[in-house]
Amino acid sequence: MAKDTSPACRQCRREGLKLYLKGERCLTDRCAIDRRPFAPGEHGRRRTKQTEYLTQLREKQKARRYYGLLEKQFRNYYEAANRQTGITGENLLRILETRLDNVVYRLGFAASRRQARQLVMHGHFMVNGKRVDIPSYRVKPDDMVSVEPNSSARGTISEATELTASVSPWLQADHDNLVGKILKYPERDEIDVPVAEQLIVELYSK
Ligand code: SF4
Repeated sequence: MAKDTSPACRQCRREGLKLYLKGERCLTDRCAIDRRPFAPGEHGRRRTKQTEYLTQLREKQKARRYYGLLEKQFRNYYEAANRQTGITGENLLRILETRLDNVVYRLGFAASRRQARQLVMHGHFMVNGKRVDIPSYRVKPDDMVSVEPNSSARGTISEATELTASVSPWLQADHDNLVGKILKYPERDEIDVPVAEQLIVELYSK
């Protein structure tokens, strides 16, 4: 499965914001964006002229990296969101949020989306009692997400729950039994992601 393998901290520095791609390290003073708060590379400290296109592009890149997706996958999600009724930008975020890897992270069962994706791919999670190893699998209301009973990652998953301060309001998590439930689809104000989705829609609809 194709995935973005570029260095995580470099991605944060490029976007000028914490994308929380490295789990526990992101919460410490070893976070690269705290230590070097400028873009990576030779011209990282240079001021770039902000055009409308550049602003839209950066917003799209930020969202894409936040969810750890490649351009083609992200574009496909946009096309799917555009086919739905309602506000395209919100549809897009809702689709991204309901990916299984994101839900595992939001439930607190992984320290980062990257770790969530890896845990899902290695078959450590079940949806409604059936093992699902596809990170892009989309959950729906009333689905139950649980850790595979014989999973060797239970310790890692339990440790991750200790880093979680709160769980998204559209989800319910039982950290003792490592079980989560999807209560409903999230509304925009329940999606904690620092992205102006309208700029992404403007970029793609040119
Ligand atoms: Fe981003 Fe985490 Fe690296 Fe900080 S430590 S720059 S938040 S990936």
